[in-house]
Amino acid sequence: MEAVVTSNPANSSQRERITVRSPASGQVIGEVPVFGAEEVKAAVERARKAQVSWGALTQAERSRRVLSFAHALIAREEELCDLISREAGKPAFEAYLHEVSASAICGQYFAKHAEKLLAPRAVELTLAKHRRATLYYSPRGVVGLITPWNFPLFMPLRDLFMAVVAGNAVVLKPSEVTPLIALKAKQVWDDAGLPPELFQVVTGYGPTGAALIDAGIDFCVFTGGVATGRRVAAMCGERLIPCVMELGGKAPLIACSDADVELAAHAAVSGGFANSGQICIAVERVYAHKSIAEQLERRIIERTRSLRVGDPQQQTVDVGAIIFPKQIDVAEAHIADALAKGAVLATGGHRIESKGNFFQPTVLTNCNPSMTVMTEEIFGPIVPVMRVDSDEEALSLANRSHLGLNAYVFTKDRSYGEAFAARVEAGSVLVNDVLTNGGMPETPFGGIKQSGFGRVLGEDALREMCNVRHVNVDRVGLGSNNPLWFPYTDAGLSRLRKAFGLMLGGGGLLSRLSKSIRS
Ligand code: NAD
Repeated sequence: MEAVVTSNPANSSQRERITVRSPASGQVIGEVPVFGAEEVKAAVERARKAQVSWGALTQAERSRRVLSFAHALIAREEELCDLISREAGKPAFEAYLHEVSASAICGQYFAKHAEKLLAPRAVELTLAKHRRATLYYSPRGVVGLITPWNFPLFMPLRDLFMAVVAGNAVVLKPSEVTPLIALKAKQVWDDAGLPPELFQVVTGYGPTGAALIDAGIDFCVFTGGVATGRRVAAMCGERLIPCVMELGGKAPLIACSDADVELAAHAAVSGGFANSGQICIAVERVYAHKSIAEQLERRIIERTRSLRVGDPQQQTVDVGAIIFPKQIDVAEAHIADALAKGAVLATGGHRIESKGNFFQPTVLTNCNPSMTVMTEEIFGPIVPVMRVDSDEEALSLANRSHLGLNAYVFTKDRSYGEAFAARVEAGSVLVNDVLTNGGMPETPFGGIKQSGFGRVLGEDALREMCNVRHVNVDRVGLGSNNPLWFPYTDAGLSRLRKAFGLMLGGGGLLSRLSKSIRS
């Protein structure tokens, strides 16, 4: 299959190209060009021009057109799922659930709610009652998206929907490992009649991503690894480009003393092995309370052994391919390190001989914090389990991490779970569930610590796609006798002290007011 190239770069005969292979079959499935810096710049310029008329549309009209793109995705879901499955090696179920439907849900949500969420907002002023403050949201301009391979449709479209509904144009640099699906999304966009130059795709490796940051974009959303994130954030910093960094994760699953063992085991297996563990919010470490640990481990192992692994194009499977051989090397290195330090290989642990890249879903027990598998991102199908003496010990270990994206708490006592969750250092904490917030458009998604900063999804993320303009208008005419302006006089200062003393002093108006509010 030949990829559709949406731009028409010059000297295309001599240019470097990327050959795309299916990770499940090893077959070549397409080829795309590597965009150079000049071409990226030209794409950003075209996007900037297209943004002018798009940004001038009413919100209702923009939302209507964005919604038509969401509908077009669902109308072409089979074609999209098939390509995702071939290019990323995902089971059909995940291609539909995590990619196509998640994208459409996201588009539909932002199309439906943008008018309300981006409407001008009044701000109540505490002292300057004679003035009226209103916040207005206007598009930033051109938003640059740099995305990874593990959700090759959803990650770009999640951010695209928020950006365009808010009135921006988008230039996307997809992962060099999965560029075909990004180009297919662009084709669906064009076919749905949306402005072609408003959303552009520039394919290539890291330098193409760097060129995008250098091409005059107004905002950048980067999703990828921590090491690349540092470089991208530094580039944005040098150019003072505001950015969101969605980086790695090391999600702990804490099974408290009163956890529903069956539920926690099922969650550990689904959360650990979905997308072959290649999810930034995958269950990457389990802390099991000693009172339930034995039973929990047994059920995790049994469930893991029942998983069907293989080429999703050939059969119905639970666990598909690993994206490239290097990820298998990483998994093997983690396992070797853990076994050398006393872990027990309960099931799995080996690569599966095949034309594609497959690895057995693996469970390690008797793990401890000296093992890399408990501290560094795995991004592969390994669930390591460590027994703990108390929920408090689990909490302390969970928080002893340089990453903080998602975390999971399992307990039958929901109130305890909610209070416990408030003490976990992570961007999102789910009680008795795994993964679902990744596709929940209403709630903010993102990390703390080295998992990044800023948020995608949720109303704050939508507003982040905008410049905020604070407009402040006088409600009553003070005329030219404003007592805060020149000339400064001793009498004026004394009046100021008296007035502010009344309002701000210990027994003053403001403190009396706040006391009466508290009581
Ligand atoms: P990566 O960091 O290698 O690449 C991400 C993107 O950055 C790719 O498009 C790549 O070409 C580009 N890139 C590389 N060097 C660049 C540079 N110098 N300037 C600009 N762009 C550059 O990540 P990956 O291997 O594709 O994805 C896996 C990582 O992504 C994991 O660490 C995972 O945790 C993370 N991830 C995070 C989230 C999240 O929402 N927090 C979601 C998915 C994946």
